[in-house]
Amino acid sequence: MAAITDEAIRELAAFRGQQAPVTTCYLDVDGRRLARPQELDQELDRLLRDARARAGGNGSVLADLKRVEALVRDGIDRSRTRGIVVFACQAHDLWEVVALPVPVHSRVVINSAPAVGQLEAILQDHPRIGVLLADKQRARMLVVDLGELTDRSELLEELPRDYDSRGHSDQGYDREQHHVSELTQQHLRHAASVAFQVFQDTPFEHLVLGAPDPVAAELESCLHPYLKQRLAGRIAVNASASPAEVRDAVLAVEGDIERRREAEVVRRLRDAVGTGQRAAAGLDAVLTALREQRVERLLVSAGFSETGWHCGSCGALAALGRTCPGCGAEMAHVDDVVEDAIEEALARGCKVEICVDNADLDVLGRIGALLRF
Ligand SMILES: [Zn+2]
Repeated sequence: MAAITDEAIRELAAFRGQQAPVTTCYLDVDGRRLARPQELDQELDRLLRDARARAGGNGSVLADLKRVEALVRDGIDRSRTRGIVVFACQAHDLWEVVALPVPVHSRVVINSAPAVGQLEAILQDHPRIGVLLADKQRARMLVVDLGELTDRSELLEELPRDYDSRGHSDQGYDREQHHVSELTQQHLRHAASVAFQVFQDTPFEHLVLGAPDPVAAELESCLHPYLKQRLAGRIAVNASASPAEVRDAVLAVEGDIERRREAEVVRRLRDAVGTGQRAAAGLDAVLTALREQRVERLLVSAGFSETGWHCGSCGALAALGRTCPGCGAEMAHVDDVVEDAIEEALARGCKVEICVDNADLDVLGRIGALLRF
């Protein structure tokens, strides 16, 4: 199962099932949540039963669901895989399986286009991060992709062994020190060029450095401009750190990067609300915009949940019941209309941001949307 690229997602998003609907299946196979194989089977059964009921007897969709079932029953290596995404359309010979080292929210979408929203959001939450660790003698360049660490390059350059134990009064010392710092510089330039080679091979969005202060400053100055632009801070990890130490430090940085990105999107929402342009804030306004298919990007405070209403005849969601504001039918009460709104937005291909600890979004009503028009 191949890694998914942004380009592959764009291609999928543009695909249209002319002859038959496309089946998109997100399946959470996270061994931490579904420890026993039977639990995974139950999750799959529940998902497929519901999907078959929605397939409307379409042969292509039923064949897609059968193939998904066979894929999972054949067994998935759950030591590395926590989420599976399948895009299928038998009528068009479409079959794309993506295995993710992070969990997904289980759901099946049957629609004219692949439902890429959730996959896109996952990739956005986990930008690829380059990690350059260095001291005066060693350098390691690693890449963290979807929370997984790949060790790319190791560089060890021997410097004169006992250079720092010489007496300071020695005439030769200055010359030797000079030589050492030249060697160190050479080593760091080398490390920087290795980092750039890795970047060209596996482009990453952010770069973090782990090095003692003087080395880090020198190293930064050696970086290619493309890499300087991508600097996202330093981690307190040395060049010989274990993979687990590196991973934990990078995950913390990843969290910071993600919070900054969320803050930027919330700032855009706040500005748009302030100027009354293409924005909705608060549950009622957002559900109205969703009903009118105007939502481009949905922003929700993590953990926000609210009861509401769902119309069985036109599918509308509403904060207040019980008459449907869309078609006038009587609606059913739902436990969590926010969750339903997220599902609806994802199914429509909108971007969804779940924002953690963002006080500005809380003030706007814990939910908001940037609108298409
Ligand atoms: Zn309705």
